[in-house]
Amino acid sequence: MTAIATLGSHCSLQVLKGAKDEGLKTILVCEKKREKLYQRFPFIDELIIVESFKEILDQKCQSILEENESVLIPHGTLIAQMSSEEIESIKTPMFGNKWILRWESDREMKEKLMREANLPVPKPVTNPKDIDKLVIVKRQGAAGGKGYFMAANEEDYNAKRNQLISEGVLSKDETLYIQEYAAGVLAYLQFFYSPLKEELEFFGVDQRHESDIEGLGRIPAAQQLKSTKVPSFNVIGNSPLVLRESLLDEVYTMGENFVEAAKRVVKPGMNGPFCIEGVYDDNAKFTSFEFSARIVAGSNIYMDGSPYYSLLFNETMSMGKRIAREIKTATETSQLDKITT
Ligand code: AMP
Repeated sequence: MTAIATLGSHCSLQVLKGAKDEGLKTILVCEKKREKLYQRFPFIDELIIVESFKEILDQKCQSILEENESVLIPHGTLIAQMSSEEIESIKTPMFGNKWILRWESDREMKEKLMREANLPVPKPVTNPKDIDKLVIVKRQGAAGGKGYFMAANEEDYNAKRNQLISEGVLSKDETLYIQEYAAGVLAYLQFFYSPLKEELEFFGVDQRHESDIEGLGRIPAAQQLKSTKVPSFNVIGNSPLVLRESLLDEVYTMGENFVEAAKRVVKPGMNGPFCIEGVYDDNAKFTSFEFSARIVAGSNIYMDGSPYYSLLFNETMSMGKRIAREIKTATETSQLDKITT
């Protein structure tokens, strides 16, 4: 029997609950310090206790996963804590496309794929000297917005970068990625592409709540001006959003374009869950600054089903359960190779 395995963080509860609901065995690779937390959840069949998630690369861990015929569900923690080489070297079959995760982690590759998908991306700024509009400065990888900052010109950029280096948030030799700041309503569009059905499903939308940029908005301007703190975009949690129905057609088109582009650029393409992240401006025009090529933690808000999935399924369907359903169907029809890498 197939088991579903994942790392204990990010969206693991949702993923394993969904797997259990589909009748699959559930395995959590769990850091010792979080053992007590995850023991609270009876739908987790087996904990593999590790000191660090990197142990998933060790033979011992991989053997347990292999014995259980596990499929590993990648999520943001895997990307944040491991290099692309390490991720690609994992022998356990991974749900979706492990090769595309490199395209998520590397800023230049990410931009290339987004352009290939025709997504409207903010203009990148290659040299701090060229900053002439408000920009956002980002770190590589799935840093969760920690250490990001905004700058209005080169001087502002240097001052904030130096401050963050002296505070130990950024390292001196770190390559930062600069792009124009896009203002508007945040919308993180969550999709699932099924290679078995060759169909794109729109799952839902979330917004991220980021500290301390969000907290700053609650302080009167006079106090904001006195603050010397460089506000970060560290994600604390998510909340749901539904879109104007008139925007849905374009949402599907963006998702489909992304799936098509991924098929051309990084085989076998964008299989499974993914997310296109951006903002809608005053003309309801979408600008996309990011994608995640795997399940996003923002889907945790719909553990009990999302508004858009309730239109597609006559049952409660979380993203975790949708993944498990795809794996179950693939196992039953001997097509696991189609949905894993
Ligand atoms: P990211 O790691 O690219 O998802 O960015 C983290 C957060 O920074 C996002 O959730 C947004 O709030 C913000 N952000 C990133 N890029 C932009 C942009 N170009 N314009 C406005 N906000 C952005």
